[in-house]
Amino acid sequence: MTHSIGFIGLGNMGGPMAANLVKAGHRVTGFDLAADARERAAGHGIAVAASAEQAAAGAEVVVTMLPTGRHVLDAYAGLTAAARGALFVDCSTIAVGDARIAADLARTAGHRVVDAPVSGGVPGAEAASLTFMVGADDADFTAAEPVLAAMGRRVVHCGASGAGQAAKICNNMILGVSMIAVSEAFVLGESLGLSHQALFEVASTASGQCWALTSNCPVPGPVPASPANRAYAGGFAAALMAKDLGLAADAAAASAVPAELGARAAELYAAFAEGAGAGLDFSAIVTTLRKGTA
Ligand code: NAD
Repeated sequence: MTHSIGFIGLGNMGGPMAANLVKAGHRVTGFDLAADARERAAGHGIAVAASAEQAAAGAEVVVTMLPTGRHVLDAYAGLTAAARGALFVDCSTIAVGDARIAADLARTAGHRVVDAPVSGGVPGAEAASLTFMVGADDADFTAAEPVLAAMGRRVVHCGASGAGQAAKICNNMILGVSMIAVSEAFVLGESLGLSHQALFEVASTASGQCWALTSNCPVPGPVPASPANRAYAGGFAAALMAKDLGLAADAAAASAVPAELGARAAELYAAFAEGAGAGLDFSAIVTTLRKGTA
């Protein structure tokens, strides 16, 4: 079944996601504040609207892919133009609390709503191979699933509103902490005279095995496709890791959960993203750990 879809936020992720909805046969009307994003979207068959309200007007489904919770809440407050009963799908990564407020706003306006943040980055958005983590009631999840399936490979129902965002920040807290742990192990190995390859061969098949080591190895050599082999260009930006760890640390503090390693990882990534790590893949943090300057 195809839908008329309003898509707000056509950036690095939203642009290719909206293009995949067009490929799946949906009628997509999009809006972005940035002119270059609007132009790229038009080239992929998206009808470009003059405002977010216009993109949502009369849409059966309204997807948002925006930078922060503030952007999403502002957008939701202004989207009364959508048809009553429209399905609101927020794919941005935002705080669990903001996702719950957004859900209340949408429901109060007579809409259905899911939070559906993603994992898989820009390559996953382009290849329609994202994983969606969904917070919604059963009926809204069922309605959203086929739309999300056009943009991704896995759609996981994590629980009620906010549960998708909770899964996202918990997963990325594991990733941020494990990347630092893997990086520290390589730096310690170096000082003990251990080659990167030797440590990789042991840890990748032993109890140190994890995604940060085997898919996104922070040192060049052992995993040819990892960003370390191209001067840490591309990949998952350190700034986005800093953002996600900040959301996780805030959620832990608000829930009185100590999460000491998560909090420390948030501090290290915040400093790194603002300094040497600006514009680099998050695995580049190994370079500052080596110098002890993170
Ligand atoms: P981006 O900055 O490339 O895109 C965001 C877009 O939103 C921009 O084009 C911006 O102009 C637009 N925008 C901002 N306010 C707007 C408004 N009021 N109306 C219309 N457009 C508006 O960011 P991105 O990389 O696409 O990330 C989007 C979200 O996805 C973020 O929450 C991010 O944390 C999350 N995310 C990103 C990645 C990734 O690898 N890039 C991976 C997973 C999740």
